[in-house]
Amino acid sequence: MAITRILIANRGEIALRVHRAAQEMGIQTVAVHSTADADAMHVRLADQAICIGPPAAAGSYLNMAAIIAAAEISGADAIHPGYGFLSENAKFAEIVETHEIVWIGPKPEHIRTMGDKVAAKRTAGALGLPLVPGSDGAVESPQEALRLAEDIGYPVIIKAASGGGGRGMKVVNNADELPTLMSQARSEASSAFGDDTVYIEKYLGNPRHIEFQIFGDGKGNAIHLGERDCSLQRRHQKVLEEAPSPVITPAERERMGMICADAMAQMGYRGAGTIEFLWEDGKFYFIEMNTRLQVEHPVTEAITGVDLVREQIRIAAGEPLSVQQDEVRFQGHAIECRINAEDARTFVPSPGLVTSYHAAGGMHVRVDSGLYAGYRIPPYYDSMIAKLIVYGRTREGCIMRLKRALGEMVIEGVNTTTPLHEALIRQDDFLSGDYTIKWLEEWMDRRV
Ligand code: ADP
Repeated sequence: MAITRILIANRGEIALRVHRAAQEMGIQTVAVHSTADADAMHVRLADQAICIGPPAAAGSYLNMAAIIAAAEISGADAIHPGYGFLSENAKFAEIVETHEIVWIGPKPEHIRTMGDKVAAKRTAGALGLPLVPGSDGAVESPQEALRLAEDIGYPVIIKAASGGGGRGMKVVNNADELPTLMSQARSEASSAFGDDTVYIEKYLGNPRHIEFQIFGDGKGNAIHLGERDCSLQRRHQKVLEEAPSPVITPAERERMGMICADAMAQMGYRGAGTIEFLWEDGKFYFIEMNTRLQVEHPVTEAITGVDLVREQIRIAAGEPLSVQQDEVRFQGHAIECRINAEDARTFVPSPGLVTSYHAAGGMHVRVDSGLYAGYRIPPYYDSMIAKLIVYGRTREGCIMRLKRALGEMVIEGVNTTTPLHEALIRQDDFLSGDYTIKWLEEWMDRRV
């Protein structure tokens, strides 16, 4: 089915990213926005704009009825959910499809399965993905947990089945502390996600976070577009991502990538997805799958030349994958820095008026951002205001270019995390690629 007008159910840089892809395909766009985002860049650029509610996301960006009404009124024939907000809401995907609007995303049943981490792990295991050793499904009683932990070996981690954003997880070092931590995990999960189901797995001491980008056509064909290394995290939030990973060989990429692609083909998965692994001592362990576009997708675009949003739109329209696996080439190296409106040392949010703005430029430098001079960053949403993505033929060249590009960025009037990135990319461990998910926080502790 041809798509002629896409409603973008999101805000900020990702709304702009989707708008750009649509325009380049000759497709019109409809921006929906809260009252706080009336002056946003993507709202200005979209062919139509509809205000759908108040600043609080519950009344606007999460307001399903308002978004569907906006789609009907504007004549949109498709909805792109971006990331966050309603992007992994199976019910919303179903409602969109019931209204005969194209959902630019995976099949609702796959969103639902992967959104439940117990079901996701079971599905991943059945599809041949390597798992973190742990319980086969939910764990009900402390006795059962103690028995399992004994088998797995301490430390173990108790995780919420409905968890997300790093919440509802407890690391357990021995049998004595297990019952208390398990009941804490349950009550935290219950209040945060309305579901106290927990499961248990081996706690890996010092892994890297490595994820594979996959794409399916929904008809049994799927490809992988290699991995991204997202180990540099603060409070389980990614700070800087790179592709390829400095520790994955071409043979490993091919082997693991094909395991992921085959799993997605078997599932009949449709659209973009990311399979996340922890990686330790040369082994991969599945932790979760995200059934949407990721913030860090541009590093994959940079090294493969595939426009992932364009691909999402094509597949939603029923077209085949634009590239076959044997046509995918991995070339060069790309790094993304997430720039947040926060103090670079304390991470205190810093919304407000951007008095001047100048984006870095030059060869192989991309800035995805809705900022402009005179824009007022609203205090209600995520603090990420820009992504700087830099490409180089080699990792060394990419880092040299990144240093140059960070130096060119000017964002005045608010605090940003640019200085954190400038310091981070000068560290020996970063330069040698020798870091794990614990490295960034340990380095920041040493720094103060
Ligand atoms: P969420 O959906 O809340 O982000 P994930 O399952 O993706 O939860 O885990 C988030 C982060 O928590 C991982 O990137 C990793 O840093 C840590 N983590 C999760 N599971 C384990 C584990 N079994 N061992 C060690 N660290 C883990």
